[in-house]
Amino acid sequence: MTLTVCAWCDSFACSTQDETRRPAGCPQERGEWLNRARETYEDEENRRIARAAAHVETTGYCQWTRLEEIGRFAEKMDFKTLGLAFCSGLKREARVVADYFRNQGFEVISAVCSCGGIHKGDVGIPPESRFRPEGFEAMCNPIGQAMMMNEMGTQFNVVLGLCVGHDSLFFRYAEAPTTVLAAKDRVLGHNPLAAVYLSQSYYRKLHEGK
Ligand code: SF4
Repeated sequence: MTLTVCAWCDSFACSTQDETRRPAGCPQERGEWLNRARETYEDEENRRIARAAAHVETTGYCQWTRLEEIGRFAEKMDFKTLGLAFCSGLKREARVVADYFRNQGFEVISAVCSCGGIHKGDVGIPPESRFRPEGFEAMCNPIGQAMMMNEMGTQFNVVLGLCVGHDSLFFRYAEAPTTVLAAKDRVLGHNPLAAVYLSQSYYRKLHEGK
């Protein structure tokens, strides 16, 4: 059987329930994942999140920015306390975002990536992976950010510009549901898809392989 996965599918038959148009290798034809997913939506909290997400999607469709959507989603979920986990490189943006949420009536707990001041060397990060190999250099501390949020009882977390991998650790340890306001891209102004949009022109190198 040809292994077809969704990124290479042209029919998207799953969105119409038209089984006749499913390509060979459609993942709906194999595995137990779909049954398990359906069962998992029986969980009341999952249903609540799915309903609130659908409400935001349809109500503000093409009208609300992502920032507004996050506020409206949190409101729909009746969350009162938001966590903002941000990168120190976006500290100005973080203040604007925190002010926005506060003005929307939320309590905002914010934590910068360097909070805790843990030296990179203390967790075995080698000198060649530090900007100051000889001296103290605070590491990004996404586990600390997550644990601070957990301890402060945030109901919903917002990630703003955490590095690749650091965000993974935050997601791994945060107890509350988490969304991303912005994905860090130091080259493209935190708009990683710009490389994809330009992949037929200035970023053709995306097609070149490793
Ligand atoms: S029809 Fe199957 S292969 Fe195509 S997008 Fe849907 S799930 Fe993926």
